[in-house]
Amino acid sequence: MRPISELIIHCSATPEGKNFTARDIDRWHKQRGWRGIGYHYVVLLDGTIQEGRPLRQIGAHVRGHNRGTIGICYIGGVAKDGRTAKDTRTPAQKRALLEICKRLTRKFPSIQKVTGHNQYAAKACPSFDVRKDPLGSLV
Ligand SMILES: [Zn+2]
Repeated sequence: MRPISELIIHCSATPEGKNFTARDIDRWHKQRGWRGIGYHYVVLLDGTIQEGRPLRQIGAHVRGHNRGTIGICYIGGVAKDGRTAKDTRTPAQKRALLEICKRLTRKFPSIQKVTGHNQYAAKACPSFDVRKDPLGSLV
């Protein structure tokens, strides 16, 4: 296993209430010419946690910060208009995000922080401030 120091949270940038899965994201990322889904986990609207890229493989989710990190993506992040950034997490998704992050911090004690994509890029993703969320104070 590669060394892990950080979990980075993302959204799929899909409209509120629309149900997509890791398989959809895998297809979208292949269309971009990647070898497949760039995230390691995907959290569906109902809180189901799906596995994406295997953990032992470096992800493709934050330019310059893929080494040493795990990418976790929840489905949503955009309002129903399809454009406006919005924290669309369902209660089940909030619980599932906490659960997967807790599980990973226990499995990899080397993890030092949980952050959001928007801390590394001028992007809205994941459409909330992880630092002000319970996720940001897990470690
Ligand atoms: Zn992102």
